[in-house]
This record gives sequence, C-alpha cells and structure tokens, in this order.
Amino acid sequence: MPMSTLQRRSALALAAAIGLGSFTAAQAHGPRHAAALDSGSLHEELEREKSQDNIWKAFFPDLVTARKAAISFHNNLLESDYERGFLVMELDADEMDRLRRFGFRFERAAEFIEQRNQRLTVLQIEAARRALGAPEPLSIPGYSCYETVEETFAAGDGLIAAKPTLARWVDAGDSWLKTQGAGGYDIRVLKLGNAATDVAGVAKPKLFINSAIHAREYTTAPLVLEFARWLVNGHGTIADATWILDHHEVHLMLHANPDGRKRAEGGLSWRKNVNNNFCTNSNNRGVDLNRNFSFGWNGTGGVGSSGNACDLTFRGPSAGSEPEIQALQSYVRSLWPDRRGPGRQDAAPADTSGIHLDIHSYSQLVLWPWGEDETVAPNGLALQTLGRRFAFFNNYTPTQSVGLYPTDGTSDNVSYGELGVAAFTFELGTSFFQSCTAYNNTIKPQNLNALIYAAKVVRTPYITPGGPEVTGLALSNNAASAGVFAGIPVNLTGSATDARFNNSNGSEPVQAIVAAQYSIDVPPWDPAARTRTIQAADGSYNSSTEALAASIKTNGLATGTHIVYVRAQDASGTWGPVTASFLRINATVPNAGNEVEPNDTLATAQATGAIPLQVSGSAGVNGDQDHYRIAVPAGTTVTITLSSVAGSDNNLVLLDTQGNVLASSSRGMGQTDAIKRRNDSPFGLNWIVRVQHASGGTGANGAYTLNVGY
Ligand SMILES: [Zn+2]
Repeated sequence: MPMSTLQRRSALALAAAIGLGSFTAAQAHGPRHAAALDSGSLHEELEREKSQDNIWKAFFPDLVTARKAAISFHNNLLESDYERGFLVMELDADEMDRLRRFGFRFERAAEFIEQRNQRLTVLQIEAARRALGAPEPLSIPGYSCYETVEETFAAGDGLIAAKPTLARWVDAGDSWLKTQGAGGYDIRVLKLGNAATDVAGVAKPKLFINSAIHAREYTTAPLVLEFARWLVNGHGTIADATWILDHHEVHLMLHANPDGRKRAEGGLSWRKNVNNNFCTNSNNRGVDLNRNFSFGWNGTGGVGSSGNACDLTFRGPSAGSEPEIQALQSYVRSLWPDRRGPGRQDAAPADTSGIHLDIHSYSQLVLWPWGEDETVAPNGLALQTLGRRFAFFNNYTPTQSVGLYPTDGTSDNVSYGELGVAAFTFELGTSFFQSCTAYNNTIKPQNLNALIYAAKVVRTPYITPGGPEVTGLALSNNAASAGVFAGIPVNLTGSATDARFNNSNGSEPVQAIVAAQYSIDVPPWDPAARTRTIQAADGSYNSSTEALAASIKTNGLATGTHIVYVRAQDASGTWGPVTASFLRINATVPNAGNEVEPNDTLATAQATGAIPLQVSGSAGVNGDQDHYRIAVPAGTTVTITLSSVAGSDNNLVLLDTQGNVLASSSRGMGQTDAIKRRNDSPFGLNWIVRVQHASGGTGANGAYTLNVGY
C-alpha cells in the first residue's frame, strides 16, 4: 500500500528530529518486500503501538486461576510475573469485567508502557536509518538468536543442499500479501525423511509441526528450525536421528504467518495475519489465524473468538477464510486419512498414526483438545498420557486446553477434530520477545527433547507413550564410535524407566518393567526383526526402573555401521519407544597401517590408532626392535597377538612407558605369540608393544602382523 501523507510527514519529522535530513517515499521503500514493509508505514505502526495504553497489571486471586486465565486470555497477555502475583495484560473494559468475576483486580502498568515505548523509539530510529541506505539487519534487532523469515528459509535451503535425499521444500500455498500480488511469501513446508528408504505404497508415520502462526511469538520458528538441524545433521552421526529419518517423516511449516511475522520482526506486538480488509489500516488489522480453522469455527456462540474485526481474536468472516489457513488445512488433510467419526464423542482407533504440534509462546503449557468446553475428548486419556510425557521434558504444565473461557476454530480442530490425529499446542517460555539467554539455556534444549520424543512415538501416539523409555544406552569397547572387529562381543548397558511423566497436574500411573529387547538393523515393530531378550542387570524385572544388561554377539555382522534398537515393556503390556545406538564393525584392514621407522627405541615408539588395530611391519635387520604405543582405557583387557611369515621368528614384549616389562611371549618359529593384560588402574594408560627379531629373515622375509584387540 502507498505511504500515506500522514505516514510520510511523521517519518520525515522523525528523520529530522534525529538529524538524518529529509528522505522521500521512494527512498523509504527498502530493497525487499517493498509493498509489504515500507519504512514509512513501519514507523507509523510503531507510533500507533506506542499510543496503546490500555495495559494493566492484573492481580490474580491464586495460581490455578492465573494459569487458566493465561489460556483464555492468551491473546491479551504481555508478560507474566507469577511470583509477584500479577499478569501484564492488554484489556478493554469488557475483558476486565470478565476477569473481575474470577477475583482479578487491576492497576495501570506504567513501567511496562514506558519500557515498551523506549524500545519502540529505538526501532523507529533504526528504521529511519535503513530508509536512508543503512543495511538491513541480519537478524531480529536485539534478538540475534532468532532467524528472520528469510534466514529461516535460507537455513532450510542449506539443509537441503547438504542432504538432498533427506530434505526438500513443499509449497503449500500463499500468504495473504502474496494472494494480493503485494509481496508476501509462499507457505512452505520443510519435509524431512530419507527418500532412499521409501517403499512404494507404504506410508511412513508423519509428524507435522507448524510454528509462528501468531507473529510475535519469537521463540517458536527458531525452535522448530533447530529441530530440523538436529534431524538432518544428526542423520549418520546420532543413532536416534538416523532411524527417525529412515522410518518416519517430519513436516515443518516453520512460518505459518510470514506476513505477520515481518511486522513482529520490526518490533511490533503483531499477532494476526495482515489482511487489510478487516480493521483496515490499523495495527489491529487482520484475522486471528488460530480462530479461523474450519472445524468448530465460531462454535461457542461468540465466547471463544471475536466477530469484531479489530479484536485480537477476530475469527474472520467465514470458516477457513484466510489463505494461510487454507494452505495449512489442505496440507494436514493430505498427510493423514480421517480416522475419527463425525460425532464429538467418536474416538479415533488406538492405533491411529500421526502427531500435529502447533508451537506458540508463551505461558509454559502443554495443551490438548478440547478447547471448546470441559468435556474430555474421546481420546483424551491417551492425549493426557502423551502430554505428560512432553511436559516431563519442558517442565510445563500439562492440561486440557480449556481455561476460564473456551476457544474455538483453533489448530487442533483440523488434525484432531476432523481426522482424529493426536494434536497438541505448546506455549513456550515466559514472554513473546523472549531473551536469547532464556531461549538458549532453557527453552531450546528442553523443548528439543520434547520434539524428539514426538518424532519417536509418532507411529502409535495413543499407545507407545504408555510404555517405558530406555535411557543411558551404551555399548562397551567403543563399539558405537571407534568400532570393533566382527566376532568381538559387545556389552550393552542402559536403563528402562516408566516414570518419566510430569505429574504437576494429576499423576500418571506407572508399572513395573517386565521385559526389554534389542534388534539389529531391523526395528522391532517390523515383523522381519530378530529380537533378542535383554536381562535385568539385577537378575529380575520387578521395579518401574531397571538397569539393563546384554551381551551382543557380533559374529557375521558386515563391515560398516549398524543400528541397535532397544525398547522395554511394562506390566500393562505396552512397549515404549525405541532408543538406538550405532554399532560399528571395522574392516579387518590395518587401523594403524604399516610400520613407520624410526621406531627402534621406547622414545621413538610409533603412535597407533584406537584399539582394535592391526600393524604390518618387518624386522629390518638382525636383532631389530620395533616399538608401538597403544592407548588402553581404564578397566579394559587387551589381547595382543604377533604372527610372522614362515621361516622367521619374532618375539613379543609389553612394557609401561618407563620401560618396565609387564608381560612377554617368546614362542618359537611358526607359532603366534600372544599377551593378554588388563589395565587395572582407574586411568587410561599408554603401554608400549615391542616386537623383537629373534631369528630368520629380515626385510620382506621378516614380515609380521601385530593385532591389538579387546
Ligand atoms: Zn499464540
């Protein structure tokens, strides 16, 4: 839209006030998204935001009421200060009356308004500088941890370029501005999954996540982008990321409201899309996309959404009227079949596959349907079990999404309401413009674990979360990293626990572990899997947390990287999700390679690679001594063998680095020398292996092979 006279005048006034001289409307158009975001209108929007002063400290009667208000009045919430007894909220007279009924009282939030206005003035000055040719900021000003819309898409491009078989973009539709030919964006989905393991006609379980449907919720899209990085970069380096992408699909609509997000990136507290047909030319224009979903749209008689175009929860003129919601809904409907009947109390079958997560901020909540009223959804108990698993990771309050008042036309209505797919809303953190410190230290790591859990259980989300988790999985002999030769047994250890629920809002029953199993390369849900039993380390399964122990035979495993899948079962009969480890089998080629001279003395001992290793060497002259330094972990036993070509004899000595002899073997011509020795110290040690020419050939005629293994 063109810059209005008023906007131009006000931009000029600001530029003059800060000594930048005058600038024209043409200069004010930035190089990108000129129609969507000219600096004059941004300035004006920032000015309008400053004038909004209906902001209140809302003192609550108790914490339970406060949390429920945070659900119902989420759109009004600007800051929560639970410890000091109030929420900072933007409220009109009617909304204040509705809260008074629950015992709230109000004071004007003068400090909040003053700090906000200082921040907005800084942003206005920066915008005016950009209009005069200063460079575009590289990320959201003051929030370098959050990618802009463009940076988000560029990061997705980077993942696709690095691993084209694992990642690709899908164009799901257009933003409102794009439908108007006024800039805007495609509504893109980053689709993750190993195309090389697709089987025609076989659907993989699908996790769908959308974020930033409300523009100002800064943490949301960056968290989901971080999850994409964990998956794609982790394929081949993290066992769980590898099997998830090999056997499941993850679909990420990182920016469900990119037009609105650009307003928020400029510093505005923008929530809705930017549809200028509603509350035209104001900061309150547009439709609340999370009240515009078709199923149950306007289903609570005007309580759970607003018919006022200027309201923050304006539901739009008709169900699914907005292009962003049309894109999201048709994408979701393309992912999963409809497995729920038409009645509100028709349950989806227990084996229904798929999860939809809608990531918002803020309020530290994990929410599930229904939001329209207090009725428990027909799959409500299973949703509650999974919600309490998610909340174990992020420490949020798990609860059904109805608060003091209902909501309608929300995102879970397309996935759960229409199709019966498990749907959740996360409310991350404690503010819209969350500090990078809180995001990096707490919100990102904790919620990343919740998203990983979702990707693990997405095959049967109404069943698997009832079962125990396997944690602390480890393989002996560095078998998961450096690897072992086939035939060397590997010890598996770990823990199975049924107890990892958030019980802050009701408590979830736990059962004793009754079994655990592993399979190699073929996951246990596949009928072709050969599963092996894992014993309880203490000899019997009788507790809700048990240590696991198994010895894995590696005979016959091919050279390369294998995946060991481990899962456990509880007394309810439910198998929990898989946790995996790599098991690497080394080729029987020299790990340390050939002998390198000089190595005739202790001091010039040749360094070797990780055990197991193999060295090919030769006795250079009569009486030659060759030395090799090996690194032996604490508590491990190494086996060293030395064989020489026919007609030649070499002997074997093991020394510490001071030259003290620890063991020796000097069998005669034609026999293999061998030493077995345990490092009993609490530290990893370097030892020296000496090969000593005894008799027979030298040079090519004195060749030997030295093996060091566990
Ligand atoms: Zn939101």
